[in-house]
Amino acid sequence: MKRIALLTSGGDCPGMNAAIRSIVRTCLSMNIQPFGFEQGYKGLIENRIIPMDNKSVANIIQRGGTILRSARSEQFKTKEGRDTAVEVLKKNKIDGLIVIGGDGSLTGANILYKDYGINVVGLPGSIDNDIYGTDMSIGVDTALNTILRSIDTINDTASSHDRTFLIEVMGRNCGYLALMSAIAGGAEAVLIPEVPYDIEGIIKKIKKRYEEGKTRSIIVVAEGVGSAYDFGKVFGMIGGFDTRITVLGHIQRGGSPTVFDRILATRLGTAAVEAFAAGSSGVMVGLQKTKVTLVPFEEVLGNKKMIDSKLLEIAEILSR
Ligand code: ADP
Repeated sequence: MKRIALLTSGGDCPGMNAAIRSIVRTCLSMNIQPFGFEQGYKGLIENRIIPMDNKSVANIIQRGGTILRSARSEQFKTKEGRDTAVEVLKKNKIDGLIVIGGDGSLTGANILYKDYGINVVGLPGSIDNDIYGTDMSIGVDTALNTILRSIDTINDTASSHDRTFLIEVMGRNCGYLALMSAIAGGAEAVLIPEVPYDIEGIIKKIKKRYEEGKTRSIIVVAEGVGSAYDFGKVFGMIGGFDTRITVLGHIQRGGSPTVFDRILATRLGTAAVEAFAAGSSGVMVGLQKTKVTLVPFEEVLGNKKMIDSKLLEIAEILSR
């Protein structure tokens, strides 16, 4: 391996920069020339390639987002688009490509590996924590901490007015952020896509809590379950609660990465380069039980990450 390129694709997440820095500096330490493609598969198709050096990744470990920028590329989903991408890789004599992104980006990476024989290693970057094969994806911990700060802040005002707050968090198909932030934030209830909800049961519980002297209620709603505004109307109308809604939106994607995310991204970045050097390809570098692990794309993409039923049980017990 003489020339390795990397790109960040799909939804951005805090820690992508730490991964870029780690990949570039590990390459340099092994006398490999690192390159970056701007804006994910879009920039790859358009041959927007940048040679990277020690200086190009200086002072970025603490920054959210991605200095290479990210994008979604419809063109890459077509055979013509991918043919062009492969031509660009060959023209630039790239020996291996590292893709940092979510499920969609890793699906694209697997096609390059399987159908075109390109050496590809993936890194899981997604705040949702919906990628199979890794206990944590890059960005999840930072997003959780951002959500938690908001829940704590809202808690203060909610208790001053005996209000019921519905807080909508990201997670279209995966309730991980909602569940973990509900547990850590001491919420009364959580609605996630993986579990059928019982609105009447929640209303009954909250009424009882108010009768017992509780001064506020927090309900965390994963966006995939539905709009917090719609649920808010139901809670207001049926429950008679003084209800307020907060949709956290894109603040969950930004911000300076936490210690956990910086270390995770750094470890996975180094491991991706080392994986290439050891002859591996078609794999995602993940974290399993605190160990960095190589997981074949087929396994990553062929399985659905499940929510931990013990955590669901804990959330239920502690919010009684
Ligand atoms: P994420 O990687 O965050 O899940 P997306 O699902 O939007 O984000 O995927 C990012 C990009 O990966 C897409 O814009 C597309 O270029 C590529 N991609 C996603 N799914 C596929 C697919 N089935 N085949 C080829 N490329 C894909």
